[in-house]
Amino acid sequence: CGIFAYLNYNVQRERGYILQVLFNGLRRLEYRGYDSSGIAIDDSLPSPINGCSAPPPLVFRQTGNIESLVKSVYQEIEATDLNLKESLDVHAGIAHTRWATHGEPAPRNSHPQRSGPDNEFLVVHNGILTNYQVWKQMLLRHGFTFESDTDTEVIPKLAKYIFDQSNQGGQTVTFSEVVIEILRHLEGAYALIFKSKHYPNELIACKRGSPLVLGVKESAEDDGSGFFSSNKSPKELFFSSDANALVEHTKRVLVIEDDELVHIKDGCVSILKFNRNRGNNGEVLSRPAS
Ligand code: GLU
Repeated sequence: CGIFAYLNYNVQRERGYILQVLFNGLRRLEYRGYDSSGIAIDDSLPSPINGCSAPPPLVFRQTGNIESLVKSVYQEIEATDLNLKESLDVHAGIAHTRWATHGEPAPRNSHPQRSGPDNEFLVVHNGILTNYQVWKQMLLRHGFTFESDTDTEVIPKLAKYIFDQSNQGGQTVTFSEVVIEILRHLEGAYALIFKSKHYPNELIACKRGSPLVLGVKESAEDDGSGFFSSNKSPKELFFSSDANALVEHTKRVLVIEDDELVHIKDGCVSILKFNRNRGNNGEVLSRPAS
């Protein structure tokens, strides 16, 4: 099982590149074992015309090997003539190979798991949650319905629950606040990547017990200011369960530690150290100046 993600901030690539990157990433993670796989990618950019809210990401899930996912994705694209965002400049995608712990191999049990049919919150997960039943019962009591038998599905649904609760008073909650609130309640092992239509072009990744690395590839000259140099310059960012899946893209790889939360927004990378015992909202470890 493995997870992979790709974000492109203003690096010119040919149409369809995001799919190539995600599929190649999954192929390189195949050795970790799989029974199914899936991806989510952005559909199109938020624009002033549609009120700056992005259409929900597109999700594709399939049982079997990576090539059966690849085949079904290209078939669906051809059949529906999807207006894929990879022709545009900024976009993000997440990908997963699954080795089932809860729920048989089936498209509905494959990842990304989602908050609901409109893909508001999407999550890929490696690992196993030991207390998911508690949260599943709580969410069922609040009217959520579950489409999978996975332990993972509680995570995107908790995200929606927390997002809706937090936004009730008209205040807005940040993506990292939503995720930190979830992490306070999870027990078990995980590497997680979150994507949401409410936070277009942002990704959040975090881990506890399962491996996760971040890769950075900048086209501009390194300005010498450290690992995350020249924030606003065009760049591509990657997450992977294994640094070997990134070698074809970059050598700049950072190993994410347990209870670190990586938030990517507008091409800026922030890493928060999350302290579950202190119950604070995460202490900023490094936030490069913009
Ligand atoms: N526990 C999750 C599931 O069964 C994730 C398994 C994995 O790491 O691939 O869906």
